[in-house]
Amino acid sequence: MRNARFVAGFILLLTLPLFSQNAANLEALKSEAIQKVDARQVFTQQMVDQIFSYAELGFQEFETSRYVTDILTKNGFKVEQGVAGIPTAWMATYGSGKPVIAFITDIDCIPRASQKPGVAYHDPIIEGAPGHGEGHNSGMAVNVTAVLVLKELMEKNKIAGTLKVLPGVAEELLATKAFYVRTGLFKDVDIVLGTHVDDSLGTQYGHSFAPQGLVSVQYLFHGRAAHAAGAPWDGRSALDAVELMDTGWNFRREHLRLQQRSHYVVINGGDQPNVVPSEAGVWYYFRELDYPHIKALYDLGNTMAEAATMMTGTTVTRRVVGSAWPPHFNKVVAEAQQKNIERVGMPQWSDADQTLAKALQKEIGQPADGLKDKVDDLKAPSPDTEPGGSDDVGDISWVVPMVYMRYPANIPHTPGHSWVDAVAMATPIAHKGSTAGAKVQVMTALDFLLSPDLVKQAWDYYNNVQTKDMKYTPLIGPEDKPAVEFNKEKMASFLPEMKKYYYDPTKYKTYLEQLGIQYPTVKK
Ligand SMILES: [Zn+2]
Repeated sequence: MRNARFVAGFILLLTLPLFSQNAANLEALKSEAIQKVDARQVFTQQMVDQIFSYAELGFQEFETSRYVTDILTKNGFKVEQGVAGIPTAWMATYGSGKPVIAFITDIDCIPRASQKPGVAYHDPIIEGAPGHGEGHNSGMAVNVTAVLVLKELMEKNKIAGTLKVLPGVAEELLATKAFYVRTGLFKDVDIVLGTHVDDSLGTQYGHSFAPQGLVSVQYLFHGRAAHAAGAPWDGRSALDAVELMDTGWNFRREHLRLQQRSHYVVINGGDQPNVVPSEAGVWYYFRELDYPHIKALYDLGNTMAEAATMMTGTTVTRRVVGSAWPPHFNKVVAEAQQKNIERVGMPQWSDADQTLAKALQKEIGQPADGLKDKVDDLKAPSPDTEPGGSDDVGDISWVVPMVYMRYPANIPHTPGHSWVDAVAMATPIAHKGSTAGAKVQVMTALDFLLSPDLVKQAWDYYNNVQTKDMKYTPLIGPEDKPAVEFNKEKMASFLPEMKKYYYDPTKYKTYLEQLGIQYPTVKK
């Protein structure tokens, strides 16, 4: 009894001062973190430039994943390769114990978006090749810089906790996060700090009223080939089924909710007119505001496909390529992050940065107001319906408290998914924006590493607000598999030429220098 009381008192003595000391030290640690991130600016810049030069399409991010996991392994992280049955996916882990903080960001690029960085008009490095026309080359520079600084701080100050790093593979296909969740990669994770390139520094919480969730599915119809003139009665046209499904969908469209967005492309229309097409396919995106409505839209699509087979004597198989829940970001984590965002502030843009930004904005017919100089206010959910695309991080946000910080590495008013969005992405704009993002990541992680109570508050919000009336049900079925073969041929056809342009940081300070580009290059 006496011993037990002694032990309890001893533990109290040990933990209480340590605890208050931690709270007092948080500010000092954050200042140190800012210095340490600044000291790694060259490292961050090299990562931004290196991944920009790899420019790999979804599921083909082999060079990028090898490069990033090499850095993490060399720095003492344990890397598990090929997670969730996806060859280019991995999970890197450092540390032990609670809390477990995971960092995630996308790594794939955009077809046909090849572009010389720092040049304010369309000028591809390789005509028609993939390129980082969304800026996913910078996210790993943000997160890896952040975790390396955190690791140093944790070692030096004996801070308990586990860091995990994951790549967003094939985000442009919305094709992996639901599989990450199904595999259980976030089972023991307490907080997820996601990040995505933007033209401003900001964060948000809650559910956005945009059609951000979706199912991306291919309907592959199978018929019977025959000579289209000699014996058409023996044939069953898979293309007929595609056309009838599309016609049915377009008539029904008038009677769907205004919040839905649905679109399709015919991916296979047969080979030549004198052969009744035995194979044809169409790829649909079904977008809606929330799970029940996405599911209903997807079910309707499946009904239309079945109906088309009945009319044409064909059969159909489905291939789910991607899916996404509309994200719901955690209010507690977002509020903590916002304070760090305001402390970090926007980067100091140079005249050259502004000249590039304004010239590009002029080139694409947008207001030439240059780069932003103020961070965003914390974005709360608004009941107004907004326009919007999708991001498959939504699924993660429904199984663990998560935020999605936007860092300022790109130019305002760009159209997205095009060469325009690649212009800034291996220039000082992206380098400085990534450094700013890394600071926010480190400081937000420190908030949660040093305060178990803040972790608890985040989970209270998750349990009692976010998931009170809506629970996560995957949009993928148990039989669906990641579309890992996608982009294979496309990437292989460009790879030999692209390898000639890989960034070599042992010879050149920057990728701009390697390409011999004057920064900025603008039309006279
Ligand atoms: Zn993206």
